[in-house]
Amino acid sequence: MGPDVASALHEKYAEERDKRLRPEGFDQYVDLRQDAPGLAADPWIDYDALASQEPALKNGDDVKFLITGAGHISLLFAGRLVEAGFDPKDICLVDTAGGWGGTWYWNRFPGLTCDVEGYIYLPFLEETGYMPKQKYSSGEEIREHCERVANHFNLRGLFSTTVLSQVWDESTRRWVVKMQQNRGPDRAKLDLEVTAQFIYTGSGLFTCPKAPRVPGFEDFRRNRHVFHPSRWDYNYTGGAPGDPTLVKLKDKVVGIVGTGATSIQIVPEVAKWAKHLYVFQRTPSYCSPRPQAPTDPETWSSEVASKKGWQKARRHNFDKYTSNDPEETDLINDGWTQHRSFAGLVGGPKVITPANYEEYAKELFNLDIERAERVRALVDHQVQDAATAAKLKAWYPGWCKRPTFHSSYLPTFNRANVTLVDTQGKGLERFTERGVVVEGVEHELDVMILSTGYGLATGNEAAPGFRNGISIIGRGGRRIEDKWGADDFGTFHGVLTHGFPNMIIPGLSGAVGSANLTSTYDMIAQHAANMLKTATERAASDPGSLVVEASKAAEDAYTAEVQKRAIRLAIFGQCTPGYFNHEGAAAKKSMEEKMLDAKRALWGDGIFSWQKMVEEYDARGDLEGVEVSWS
Ligand code: NDP
Repeated sequence: MGPDVASALHEKYAEERDKRLRPEGFDQYVDLRQDAPGLAADPWIDYDALASQEPALKNGDDVKFLITGAGHISLLFAGRLVEAGFDPKDICLVDTAGGWGGTWYWNRFPGLTCDVEGYIYLPFLEETGYMPKQKYSSGEEIREHCERVANHFNLRGLFSTTVLSQVWDESTRRWVVKMQQNRGPDRAKLDLEVTAQFIYTGSGLFTCPKAPRVPGFEDFRRNRHVFHPSRWDYNYTGGAPGDPTLVKLKDKVVGIVGTGATSIQIVPEVAKWAKHLYVFQRTPSYCSPRPQAPTDPETWSSEVASKKGWQKARRHNFDKYTSNDPEETDLINDGWTQHRSFAGLVGGPKVITPANYEEYAKELFNLDIERAERVRALVDHQVQDAATAAKLKAWYPGWCKRPTFHSSYLPTFNRANVTLVDTQGKGLERFTERGVVVEGVEHELDVMILSTGYGLATGNEAAPGFRNGISIIGRGGRRIEDKWGADDFGTFHGVLTHGFPNMIIPGLSGAVGSANLTSTYDMIAQHAANMLKTATERAASDPGSLVVEASKAAEDAYTAEVQKRAIRLAIFGQCTPGYFNHEGAAAKKSMEEKMLDAKRALWGDGIFSWQKMVEEYDARGDLEGVEVSWS
């Protein structure tokens, strides 16, 4: 690949990015939970069944571990605690959802399949002995597996319950937790106040379904149908979770806005049934095939799950490739493991300094070119109409947005009942009573599917719990969002934060990232469980009074190391807007804000450097940098 190709691509990428940069950042969206709560209601819950059961906690209870969330992060937190010797009776997981699964509880849209191999994505496969049915697991299979994990560890869940506030009480060495259970539209809400010795904040990344803030939305809603994929309306479409026979769409003109990882799975399914489907695109995704295959029991036992520790080793192998540090054999061998420039997001083994940054950025860009060209060529190969194919090509470096994987998304645009409406990077102009307007043209629709993702936050609003409206107040009455926005911000290994004793955070700042989130959350969960086990052994005379807190000095020293490694984030300056770069707002931040963002970054040297550090730390067992006290 000559320098001319690289420089032409730089120009093209910059031109496409500039079309999409907009001043509003995250404010260009509305949060459906607040602005259109009817669109965020729980479609899956059986309120009668819920109301007939005793809640897992009652007013005045004192629980050892209260974990917010009941999805993968929280199940890993809880499971690793049980494995460390804690009693499952002392653990309670609380979720706004009506059951286990987190994102897999809410999302049940037709075609839903995790594009990360199930063998590494599903937690606790060795512990539960479960063999996934296929290489890539369906949403239903993953949700059922979450239930299996909860049963395996005898975990308790308090569902349809929102944590409202968590306030540290120094005198009792407890968190005072206020919650509210929604028992259905015709029943009074149940207020609960309990105390917890330890809180875990595991309330997830993709919890706030959002929609574009464009004029006319309410007019459209009054006259036509709308829903978000995380609240799929099978009453309207026909079919059911796991049964994508959307028979009721046969006479419907359907719109879907958004072309991210969710939409690319929905489009092929809706296209099979709708009278007509319009796909409204602002930025195309890179879309590579997803080589689905049933699991062969023989290969499973002889090659995949052949020895103890296989799942950790297989995850390690996957992360090696997406960190651009490949091993000899690519065990997973799919689009993800061929996406080595994803290291731009998750980090890699190379330590980036001001002296080698330019060389690093160039190497990463060049590494990405072959992949990007290959995926763009695939569009020409799979989409017959040249003009449509041109619009479906992505033009940005491979670390800027999450890639997508599906084998029939692109060919779906060859169908006569499917039209791609490219918005030239501008997005929907407005809704009308009958449809949507793009570039001055109105498209009439019966229903619009808002596949526009989830609200995320930047700055102090990225503090644990903040996006979910949880007020977390630590020692001395300090609000967690104030610490997240202050100069003294810091974490210890991304797991503890000074001033908030006995609180475990899920590492979005200061820990590590992976294309397989289960991999990072498991490392974080094991590290947290190890620390709490060691501290509890030390406090054997009175574990009920144990308090664990990162020292300010240790937190500052660790966070300085995170900040030092964040120089590599400068590569996001080349990126088209998306949630990885705060919708393009990152580039416009002041130097002070950038310095603070650098403190809040992931560990820059990649997952293995962090894993080695925390595993060695746990093996030493000295809890250096952590203050442990008991009475
Ligand atoms: P995304 O945020 O990835 O995608 C939202 C889409 O909506 C983008 O294409 C965006 O365009 C578009 N959009 C936003 N505003 C407008 C507008 N005003 N007009 C037109 N289009 C607009 O959300 P998803 O739900 O697709 O995915 C969220 C995350 O969930 C993924 O990143 C992934 O981590 C996870 N996921 C994982 C899956 C898996 O298989 N493991 C499957 C599905 C989701 P633009 O790009 O221009 O902003």
